[in-house]
Amino acid sequence: MATTIKRAQMFIGGGWVDGSGDESQPVLNPATGEVIAEVPKATAEDVNRAVAAAKKAYEEVWFDATPKERQAALLAMADVVDEHAEELGRIEAENVGKVYSLTMSEELPVIADNFRFFAGGARVLEGRAAGEYMKGFTSIIRREPIGVAGLIAPWNYPLFMAAWKLGPALAAGNCVVIKPSEMTPLTLLRFAELLAEKDVFPPGVFNVVTGDGVPAGDAIVRNPDVGIVSLTGDVDTGKLISRNAADTLKRVHLELGGKAPVVVFDDADLAAVTEWIKIAGYFNSGQDCTAATRVIAGGDVYDGLLSELVPAVQSIKVGNGFAEDTEMGSVVSKEQLERVTGFVDRARAGGAEILTGGHPIDGPGSFYEPTVIAGLKQDDEIIQREVFGPVVTVQRFTDEDQAVAWANGVDYGLASSVWTRDVGRALRMARRLQFGTVWINTHIPLTPEMPHGGYKQSGHGKDMSIYSIEEYTNVKHVMASLD
Ligand code: NAD
Repeated sequence: MATTIKRAQMFIGGGWVDGSGDESQPVLNPATGEVIAEVPKATAEDVNRAVAAAKKAYEEVWFDATPKERQAALLAMADVVDEHAEELGRIEAENVGKVYSLTMSEELPVIADNFRFFAGGARVLEGRAAGEYMKGFTSIIRREPIGVAGLIAPWNYPLFMAAWKLGPALAAGNCVVIKPSEMTPLTLLRFAELLAEKDVFPPGVFNVVTGDGVPAGDAIVRNPDVGIVSLTGDVDTGKLISRNAADTLKRVHLELGGKAPVVVFDDADLAAVTEWIKIAGYFNSGQDCTAATRVIAGGDVYDGLLSELVPAVQSIKVGNGFAEDTEMGSVVSKEQLERVTGFVDRARAGGAEILTGGHPIDGPGSFYEPTVIAGLKQDDEIIQREVFGPVVTVQRFTDEDQAVAWANGVDYGLASSVWTRDVGRALRMARRLQFGTVWINTHIPLTPEMPHGGYKQSGHGKDMSIYSIEEYTNVKHVMASLD
């Protein structure tokens, strides 16, 4: 199946432009290893051109756009996603190795819904107070756009993560320069084409550059006219971007990795735990920052859980995401396959017990077996570091304090879940777990009204919800003498 993307150009200043350098980037289908497109590798000069276009559009046009006009644009984005869902879903599944049916049911409708949420958000932004706080003076709080927002997206949910950035940045009134991952630029380019065909934005409000982290992403980070840089990506990339953004003191919004614990108490509903781990540990081949990767189970429930979980994981059908019965597709690249293989091989060499899976699958594509690993210590690498593949670890705890210590005992703090029928314990755990999301008796559902974001080295700043729109604003105090 060939993608419909033919365009080897970037969208800058309302038009399609070539990269200024000669280099282009092959884009692969990881399920087959085939090259499915070529896109430009932006140079710093290309990025600076996009930022200049965004700045001009902000000053000349978008600064005067009313919330109603911004809402209309965001609603049009949602409509474009809905109207072209099949095509966008197919490109996404092809470029990332996803399961097409799941991309259609779990991603595309939610992307459209996110744009609709942000369309509403554009109309309700507020300063918190206006009044006379000193005698003889009136104060007003204005919530204003930052100007140009630089958005840098990852490869695991290319259009979804782009939507989490575009939605709030545009709702708040900014102009944007967005760079998709060098591995997965295709849905965003096609989306830009579709938006351009409908004249959704005035020229320069919405710009897409393609290419590598360095120089393209780096040029966004270093450009002094970019007021905020928003990254979803790896923890190390977040640290590097924070350092590089310091030179221009721009705001940095970071959604980084995760290592979500799944804390299962002895009174948990094992059938529900198993069902949700099967979904949340292996959805998108485990390449999900909130994936249910670390099961921490009570002493009495541990054996029973494994006896349900292992066969459930063995039943997952792995293969090309366009085959009808496939439940899990490939990982995103050969490099990612090697990374996952390396983690599991090192755990095995260190004495871990591989309960199922544990190997790459032969073939031209990048597939890995759904894997469950036990016999681990808290300081083992595979407990401490994000694998970003279809690998779930299982540990047995003795009491609640140990469960909390292990759950919190990693550098990450993005998402977590607790499984118990005891309401008091569930709420106590929700308080003690140091993660931006705590699920109780479920794992992975998200809704655009609620914030998503990290504690600790999972980053700072929120995606989704009104909080994310506020991230892309400045607060101004206006004070006037009443004399
Ligand atoms: P990555 O950090 O390798 O790349 C992310 C983006 O940053 C890409 O567009 C890349 O080109 C760019 N980049 C790389 N180096 C850069 C630099 N020096 N300057 C500017 N830009 C640079 O991450 P990835 O491998 O694409 O994505 C997987 C990671 O994303 C995982 O760690 C995952 O946990 C994380 N993630 C987090 C969330 C969340 O909400 N917290 C969601 C999805 C993915």
